[in-house]
Amino acid sequence: MTLKLSDRMTPHESVTYFFEQAADRVRLDDEMREVLRGSYREMQVQVPVRMDDGQLFVFNGYRVQHNGARGPYKGGVRFHPEADLDEVRALAALMTWKTAVTDLPFGGAKGGVQCEPYMMSQAELQRLTRRYTQMIGYVLGVNRDIPAPDMNTNAQTMAWMMDAFGQRYGYQPACVTGKPVELGGSLGREAATGRGVVFVMEEYAKDKGYPLEGATVAVQGFGNVGSFAARIAAEAGAKVVAVSDVRGGIAQSSGLDIEKVWAHRDESGSVVGFPGADEISNEQLLELDVDWLVPAALGEVINGRNASKIRARVIVEAANHPITPLADAALADAGKDVIPDILANAGGVTVSYFEWTQNIQQFRWEEEQVNTQLRKIMSKAYRDVAQMAERGCGLREAAFSIGVERVARAARLRGYV
Ligand code: NAD
Repeated sequence: MTLKLSDRMTPHESVTYFFEQAADRVRLDDEMREVLRGSYREMQVQVPVRMDDGQLFVFNGYRVQHNGARGPYKGGVRFHPEADLDEVRALAALMTWKTAVTDLPFGGAKGGVQCEPYMMSQAELQRLTRRYTQMIGYVLGVNRDIPAPDMNTNAQTMAWMMDAFGQRYGYQPACVTGKPVELGGSLGREAATGRGVVFVMEEYAKDKGYPLEGATVAVQGFGNVGSFAARIAAEAGAKVVAVSDVRGGIAQSSGLDIEKVWAHRDESGSVVGFPGADEISNEQLLELDVDWLVPAALGEVINGRNASKIRARVIVEAANHPITPLADAALADAGKDVIPDILANAGGVTVSYFEWTQNIQQFRWEEEQVNTQLRKIMSKAYRDVAQMAERGCGLREAAFSIGVERVARAARLRGYV
């Protein structure tokens, strides 16, 4: 392994660090390492958009396809000022390992447009989405590459993407997942990532005898993933004592009423100002003395600066790459368990797989079937990872090792290497 641990590693260097660690463990040969370390295809496009005030703004858009040995490329699209090529490349690689750990028949990809979505109108966002889809349309397709929502994109964004793609290539609802249910979206998709997070927490709880019922939980980020994770954890009997969003956090030691927090967020646009709760910062939330900490917002929020202050015993990576490799090592030294992103937040891509399957079969599953199958896949993935970890490594190294082995086997069988 050549990369040295430091907080100055870029997101792609960090993901490569975890990959190399696993490659060492599974004794991957040098040729296969070289193939799996880099991306298959990286597309950078110009996305010119006429803003509402008449000015033209040119955004940078990306679609990175990391590896397709196990099936069509699959991965979300994020709209964020920090979504540059390095970040999208890192997230694409994570998708390859994630679909492999959960044993879904997909490869890994990610997309991004570098923009400030909070500052844009719905009309501007629609024009941006359509233009971006047009620009990357050549490399998309039902059996080629299937986008989904991620940070600051949602079912509406996917509806625009499906429509823009369909205008050029014909009606194919399976070309994106995470669509509105009215347009072929799967029941249960919106909640899937958060639900999968809680399913994995329940498996860990059973496995380690560290119960979730009655345990305290703090969730950073109350967006798609975090709000459902908080709601479903509360339904499972956990005491959610703190949540936050981009504007700040709230805490209540007796436990927040998550349904009321949802209503407050829907009404006011933020969890901040929730009556009866204490206001805390996002930094303070991460350092609370809780049983479970669930970062569900941005990447690299736990790093060399705050790793020693984390008091939770288990950290569940609902967000992608919330812990830097330096912090990961410090948490392991402190005896804390980290349930890694490629396992913890795989519920979204799992139900995306169900959506794709339903679209291809032109058949709709009941929500109960979606949730039952989701639990099966998440539980099996957890057990595979926990079993690998018994050989003497942490859960992250175990999850990456399984992913790397499965992808390498598929690549070899196809004759890539
Ligand atoms: P989202 O846009 O719905 O929500 C993001 C949340 O984070 C919002 O509450 C936002 O206010 C908050 N946030 C933004 N900036 C913040 C900051 N600086 N400090 C604290 N909070 C901040 O996004 P999402 O889809 O819930 O994605 C969250 C994370 O989960 C991302 O890392 C994403 O890659 C990952 N993820 C999402 C899915 C999915 O299905 N949506 C699947 C797997 C992983």
